[in-house]
Amino acid sequence: MKPVATEWFQHERLAPDLIRITEKHFDPIARANLWLLTGRDRHLLIDTGLGVSDLARYLAPLLDKPLTVVCTHMHFDHAGGLADFHDTCLHCQEIDLMKQGDATAALALPEQGFNVDGYFDELPYAGFSAASYRYRPCVVQRALNDGDTIDLGDRALEVLHLPGHSPGSIALYDPAQDTLYSGDVVYDGELIDNAHGCVPDHYAASMVRLARLAPRLVHPGHYHSFGTERLHSLVTDYLAGRRASACPASA
Ligand SMILES: [Zn+2]
Ligand SMILES: [Zn+2]
Repeated sequence: MKPVATEWFQHERLAPDLIRITEKHFDPIARANLWLLTGRDRHLLIDTGLGVSDLARYLAPLLDKPLTVVCTHMHFDHAGGLADFHDTCLHCQEIDLMKQGDATAALALPEQGFNVDGYFDELPYAGFSAASYRYRPCVVQRALNDGDTIDLGDRALEVLHLPGHSPGSIALYDPAQDTLYSGDVVYDGELIDNAHGCVPDHYAASMVRLARLAPRLVHPGHYHSFGTERLHSLVTDYLAGRRASACPASA
C-alpha cells in the first residue's frame, strides 16, 4: 500500500516573476511543468497538472493579484486541474472536448498507458488509483486562436497554435523576455505523436514553424528548460524522424 503524500506539489522560483511547480509524486517522465508568471496586473498560470490535489490552495500564498489560467492543451497531465479555476483559456479546437470532459482525448484512461498506478510513488489522497481518476469537464471562459495575446499588464504573451501532439496544442511566446512556453509541442525527451488525437503531419508542420523561431529560452511542458540551439536540434531530429515515439530510432 502506497502512502498518501503529505504535500503533492513542489515549486522553485526561477526568477522574481517566474515559478515552476511540479507534482513530485507523479513519475518524473510523466509529470508536467506548471509555470506561474507574475506580470504587473495579473499572474498567469500555464497548465494545471492532474487535478488530483488542490492546486488553487497551494498557489494562494504565491499570489498577490488576479490569476488567469491557460492550458497548453487538454491532456490530463496539463488540464486535469482546469475545472478548479475561473479565468481560464484553452485553444478553440479543444474547448468542446474539455466541456465534455473527454477522458479519451485527454489520454486519461489507464489503458492508454499514460495514467497508470506505477507512475504514482505516493497517493494524492487515500483510496486513489489510476482507474478511479476522473478527468473533470469544464467550461472554459476564453477560446484562444493563433495570434491572440494574453495581457499581464506590462507584457503580453502571444498564442502560437502548433497542432499535431493534440488538435489544440499551443505554445506561448513572451516577447519581453524572449521566452517560449512550449507545452508538449517540444521538450527534451520522447515526443508523443502516435497517441489518440495526434496527427504526425500536423506535428511536422508545427515543427517547421518552430524552426523559424529563435527564443533565448524555452520552458517546456516536461523536463528541463533549454535554449535556442537545443530547440533547433530537437526540431531537426524530429523532422528527420529521429525523435517521434512512433520512430524510436535514436533512443
Ligand atoms: Zn500532451
Ligand atoms: Zn504532457
